[in-house]
Amino acid sequence: MFYSKLARSVSPYTAGEQLNDRNYVKLNTNENPYPPSPRAAEAMRAFDADRLKLYPDPEAKALRASIAAAEGVAAKNVFCGNGSDEVLALCFPAFFDPEGKGACFADVTYSFYPVFAEFFRIPTKIIPVKGDYSLDLEEFLQADCQGYFLANPNAPTSLGISRREIENFVKRASDKIVVLDEAYMDFYGESAVPLTEKYENVLVVKTFSKSYSLAGIRCGYAIGNEALIDALFRMKDCFNSYPVDGLCQAICAQAVADKSYHEETVQKVISERERLKGELKSMGLSVLDSKSNFLFVAFEKTGGEFIYRSLKERGVLVRYWNKPKLENYCRITVGTPAQNDALLDALRHILR
Ligand code: PMP
Repeated sequence: MFYSKLARSVSPYTAGEQLNDRNYVKLNTNENPYPPSPRAAEAMRAFDADRLKLYPDPEAKALRASIAAAEGVAAKNVFCGNGSDEVLALCFPAFFDPEGKGACFADVTYSFYPVFAEFFRIPTKIIPVKGDYSLDLEEFLQADCQGYFLANPNAPTSLGISRREIENFVKRASDKIVVLDEAYMDFYGESAVPLTEKYENVLVVKTFSKSYSLAGIRCGYAIGNEALIDALFRMKDCFNSYPVDGLCQAICAQAVADKSYHEETVQKVISERERLKGELKSMGLSVLDSKSNFLFVAFEKTGGEFIYRSLKERGVLVRYWNKPKLENYCRITVGTPAQNDALLDALRHILR
């Protein structure tokens, strides 16, 4: 009765299941199976609870300096938010107008983009993916729009676009903002961060949730030229001055500084990804060429839902969408070797 029209009509994003009714092999929300850096853990232990009586640094200066050092940019080119979801959300009002030509993204991509667009009343231009699920960048360039959201690697398809192709795209789209959602980029290694110094229309958004194993702390960041970063700060300060709490700032600053641990963890995930992909293929399944920490696997004979349900009964959680182009697939996060073996065992039983 007291709902606004918006509260009545929106279709909110549905997050993956976070169940605790039993001890699942949890391969459904693309978390990292390995723990965060020991330096991050030490920052948490060393954090003085007395500091919690004061507000945190609203500009997250020390954390931004730490991210800047790791990414090879200046701190003034970094913006931090409460998860990359928040950073992506702020991009809509920062770079798009309700009466403008709209935000352009693929029909098969991160399903939060249409939700943000609806929330901020930004029109959308939706470009269908090609038959092989790759993005049709030529069609993107033809779209009459204010700018783009490209997830690279894309979700849930896991496919990546090389830096060279991205550079070509941003050059040709020079009068439009290109937001590159690189949540999974560390598992590919083709980041567009170097392009942010060369092209003023490029904003790269990254997260601590995946390659840094810190989904629980909620921190994401954007890298771009000063004007783009300023637009994000203006939006943040219309909404929440302190989106990144003090403990989060302390933990993430250490995590991003621990380069060797990060590289080691990423390599472990990549090598398990390749093994798991090989095993699934040897079972006769078709698996897209993943550049991320998850696999997009086709189950043409049974459909994705049957596999999702059967796996869940056996204690393995994966993600499935009852949506056009996705209903024959499951998205499976790469776990530890033992978790992946449990998945493979369960799948062999189900498919037999
Ligand atoms: N982008 C993509 C493509 C994702 O899959 C996710 C994870 N759901 C995010 C952004 C958001 O991640 P976070 O808010 O945890 O940084």
